[in-house]
Amino acid sequence: MCIRDSFAPGPTPIPPEVLLAMAHPIIHHRTPQFQKLFRGVLEDLKYVFQTQRPVLVLASSGTGAMEAAASNLLSPGEEVITIRGGKFGERWAEICEVYGVRSVNIDVEWGKAVNPQVVEDTLKDHPQAKAVFWQASETSTGVKHPNQELAQICQKYDVLSVVDGITAIGVFDVPMDAWGLDVVVSGSQKAFMLPPGLAFIALSEKAWARVEEAKCPRYYFDLRKELKSQSKADTAYTPAVSMIMGLRASLDIIKREGLENIFARHALLSKATREAMKALGLELLASESPSEAVTAVKVPPGIDGGAITKTLRDKYGVTIAGGQSQLKGKIFRISHMGYVSKADMLLVIGMVEVVLKELGYPLELGKGVSKAQEILFP
Ligand SMILES: *Cc1c(COP(=O)(O)O)cnc(C)c1O
Repeated sequence: MCIRDSFAPGPTPIPPEVLLAMAHPIIHHRTPQFQKLFRGVLEDLKYVFQTQRPVLVLASSGTGAMEAAASNLLSPGEEVITIRGGKFGERWAEICEVYGVRSVNIDVEWGKAVNPQVVEDTLKDHPQAKAVFWQASETSTGVKHPNQELAQICQKYDVLSVVDGITAIGVFDVPMDAWGLDVVVSGSQKAFMLPPGLAFIALSEKAWARVEEAKCPRYYFDLRKELKSQSKADTAYTPAVSMIMGLRASLDIIKREGLENIFARHALLSKATREAMKALGLELLASESPSEAVTAVKVPPGIDGGAITKTLRDKYGVTIAGGQSQLKGKIFRISHMGYVSKADMLLVIGMVEVVLKELGYPLELGKGVSKAQEILFP
């Protein structure tokens, strides 16, 4: 069966306009035609990141921008603090360690948000720390961390705030400049409604000053080279031209809807999903601080977690995600990120009901859907 409906937290569904834009013949990248396209894209990315600083476009998955953040800001032997509350928090720590940067990890129970007081205490205990790394939205657990408070704490202790906004930018409000965030990264295959292959990174003035001093080795991801090129609407290496043509189309869609409406839509769809799951008697993993990008639901006792995602995919052509690492088989995750509508949510909630019932979970069909309908269509 072909897979039509994707509710995995990346890659997310792609609007037809974006697919068509990418199907155009390639334009050569060292031309005025490409520069015109690229200049417009770079300008509109600032709107999405809510910053006046340049947003750089890299040809890589999101992790490339995470690596660029670490290698461009730090020197071997330096110390940073990482909030580690899921798979992607672990990734920040792993990247730092690879570059010889010592990561002091704040381990947060998977499914919980970090307590800002703990971050503050850790900064007091580690006055040498240069930066705090975290996820605005920890996709593996469906948690949203207290981003504004964390930004304030970083400012108070004069350390860089380095935020993985890969499932936050274009989902909920993370105003980079207004909150004084130093580094924000994102990627194409989440709320940007594009295929995987582009990463984005924006740095504050303070962060750019650090880039000059940082001694970690870097070549492809040397942000100084990219800044120099991209400030002239050029790129250091061959850009992912087709992806940038798609990005033009996706930014048009984002601008047309407007960030505020986009945030409101994600808030509504995520609320409907959470309430629908609760109406079915299911428990949420991130009940206290849920992300508007993805809802993580605990697999009920006695039900085979792997079979939920497998049956949805192979029998009905609906993709959701399971759990990663220690949460494998224990949760399933429904994304409501990017090109997703109210109608889409009724489809996925309805199909989750069907599959849970088939697998032996006692539920009354339609209970989740009707709860979602109440919320989505008041
Ligand atoms: C998807 C994702 C990433 C990046 O993963 P890539 O596979 O490298 O694109 C990083 N952090 C978070 C929070 C994510 O959701």
